[in-house]
Amino acid sequence: MREGGITTFEERAAALDAADPLGAYVDRFVRKPGCVYLDGNSLGPLQHAVQARLKTVIADEWGTGLITSWKEGCWLDLPSQTASRIAPLLGVSDASVTVCDSTSVNLFKLIAAAWQHREGRADILVESTNFPTDLYIASGAAALLGASLRQFDTADELLSSLDASTAIVVLTHVDFRTGAALDIPSVTEEVHARGGRVIWDLSHTTGVFPLALEEWNVDFAVGCGYKFLNGGPGAPSYLYCSPQLLPTVENALPGWWGHAAPFAMSPHYESHPDILRFQTGTPSILSLAALHEALAIWNDIDLDAVRQKVETISSLFIDVVASEATTLLQCISPADPSTRGSHAAFRHPRAAQVMATCIATGVIGDVRPPDIVRFGFAPLALTYSDAVHAAKTLLAAAASCTAGA
Ligand SMILES: *Cc1c(COP(=O)(O)O)cnc(C)c1O
Repeated sequence: MREGGITTFEERAAALDAADPLGAYVDRFVRKPGCVYLDGNSLGPLQHAVQARLKTVIADEWGTGLITSWKEGCWLDLPSQTASRIAPLLGVSDASVTVCDSTSVNLFKLIAAAWQHREGRADILVESTNFPTDLYIASGAAALLGASLRQFDTADELLSSLDASTAIVVLTHVDFRTGAALDIPSVTEEVHARGGRVIWDLSHTTGVFPLALEEWNVDFAVGCGYKFLNGGPGAPSYLYCSPQLLPTVENALPGWWGHAAPFAMSPHYESHPDILRFQTGTPSILSLAALHEALAIWNDIDLDAVRQKVETISSLFIDVVASEATTLLQCISPADPSTRGSHAAFRHPRAAQVMATCIATGVIGDVRPPDIVRFGFAPLALTYSDAVHAAKTLLAAAASCTAGA
């Protein structure tokens, strides 16, 4: 601290790092020298433990165990073992979550499942700014089911669109562009009050918000394994179905892994009595093993501490950027950290050029067309000092791109 009590951002970051209860986790992640990685919301970073696990799975379980590893290496139970590591992050029981396929595919299954409870209602509502795959899947499912697809632009517009023909609302909790987060319990309650069902996409949520889906009466949820859960590129997705609805919904993609007795090889489908009915085909064991190992880190982590770090680190980043009023960077993420996911986004007329300059100088974020630069904070893998360094790198990149205009 300087005389007069004025601190620099670097000093503030050093003090936060010294007091960070999650600081010890940073070294569990592989780090590229000279690089601050701020795309953890798109592809989470690799942990040393995951690297080691994959070596074992490949050399021992696949290499020498071969097909016996389905039983000996516990491959058969890996989907359920992985689900039980995700359940506490969602605030639900193990029996309500399964891990399989991609978010896109699982969203399709959940739309088809929710449709089975439509009770004569005809509409599926989706947010027009939702992640594109959610729009495409909802549109494809609506066409097959004979539903009519209606789009809304804002949460307020959603509430005024809900009516007696609303069957399903497909919502993403954290907006992939701005990071703005909705309030899951109150929105769920509003939809239920009008008789509809909600499917929450938690791709940018799980691992950075404490959740209590069961307590909040959430019907269905889906999300990504490769973002804040750090499961690796293309990691399987997770799917939640409330215990009340589970016995009454079927999987529209009823593959043999969702069968009550897959290895009986019966020509007749009989759905599994529990959440495994949402499985479809053979699990991707290599990816699943990586996700399973990546999730071990959450065993003794307090999600409230994670949430606190997410809010503080993203606010620090935004404050550093705002300290230079002369750049063309305009923050489009909510100013109130409690309604923000774990990323910060800024408009800049030369977004692609700004990001290319950032990456060339060791700060990796990403661009969302046409004019957004986006920086995601994997809370377990970053220090506050990383955030300040990266924000200053962004300021320099923006200044150089503006000057070259
Ligand atoms: C990342 C993301 C997806 C990704 O879906 P995949 O099937 O894994 O490609 C889906 N929805 C949202 C909201 C996302 O942020």
